[in-house]
Amino acid sequence: MTRFVDVSAMAQLVQRVGLAPLLAQMANALREDFLRWDEFDKSARVASHSDLGVIELMPVSDAQRYAFKYVNGHPGNTALGLYTVMAFGVLAEVGTGRPLLLSELTLTTALRTAATSAMAARALARPASRRMALIGNGAQSEFQALAFHHLVGITEIRAFDVELSATAKLQRNLANVPGLTVTRATSVAEAVRGADVVTTVTADKARATIITPEMIEPGMHINGVGGDCPGKTELHPEVLRSARVFVEYEPQTRVEGDIQQLPADFPVVELWRVLAGTAPGRQSAEQVTVFDSVGFALEDYTALRLVHRLATELDLGEDVDLVPPATDPKDLFRFTRTATPLRRVA
Ligand code: NAD
Repeated sequence: MTRFVDVSAMAQLVQRVGLAPLLAQMANALREDFLRWDEFDKSARVASHSDLGVIELMPVSDAQRYAFKYVNGHPGNTALGLYTVMAFGVLAEVGTGRPLLLSELTLTTALRTAATSAMAARALARPASRRMALIGNGAQSEFQALAFHHLVGITEIRAFDVELSATAKLQRNLANVPGLTVTRATSVAEAVRGADVVTTVTADKARATIITPEMIEPGMHINGVGGDCPGKTELHPEVLRSARVFVEYEPQTRVEGDIQQLPADFPVVELWRVLAGTAPGRQSAEQVTVFDSVGFALEDYTALRLVHRLATELDLGEDVDLVPPATDPKDLFRFTRTATPLRRVA
């Protein structure tokens, strides 16, 4: 049978494990899988663009498991009462093709994206980083804030969003986190001034230049999360040119990341190389580093395998007949005669 984890089961999982421990477990699991980079069959995601957004399929596999995520990105959705990003995904057994897990991935994507950002910042930001600018205070923002607080050591956040209500929501949601203060800035420049880390997580289907060269101070680490689609950017090209830029999977990021604005031979470093110790990360305290995040299928593979393990251990979600139970696998036709499939004989 297939384990089905819906939003309510995932919310229970977060509460049972605890958000901070779950982010830590996610970051550790991501690191384990990034260090197995060569074992994965990787490809850039398949994107279907429309005027209002994008729908993407993200497959990846190793010798044991295959995973895919369905995800959309529609920046106008919140005005319609829908999330900008919604997702679900499947983890399957490579040896048989049997689906092991069908899971919500909207909440999980926010967790895995924040854990990935924190994993990158741990490797790239200056070790004493304490202050972060957080530009874009929508659905992803609390997760980013908490991952940087718990996993990187950020204690002070200056938040900015073009919508005041988004920042007010962020402040409300994080009001009781010990050791973390969140103040509202009146502009991007004010939020960024004096920051060790700058996280951009805005949604706008536009070639935006939210971070411009005059805002950059020596040694900053920029965690660019919202520029993740052709024609959708957040960083001025000169910000990228003056920095050392790190990416997830280069063939995908060349098309989707902020580096889409630069020539195809602009040098970038895949993050896994830094984690594996085969490429340098930050080279000096003054160097500006950029993690040009777009979201890669391997991160969802990691998230799905972690959710599958935890949901099984904690008995969360339910087992469903996503595919017919095979008492006689050559007789599929019998399911046309009964509405209640016969249970598999154990
Ligand atoms: P959301 O719509 O909930 O929030 C986006 C926020 O950005 C909104 O509050 C909006 O007012 C604000 N915003 C838009 N333009 C702005 C600007 N110029 N300056 C300041 N604020 C601005 O969306 P979300 O779910 O939080 O996602 C945010 C972005 O992150 C999206 O672009 C999404 O595609 C991207 N994302 C990336 C990854 C990844 O792995 N890299 C994963 C998930 C989401």
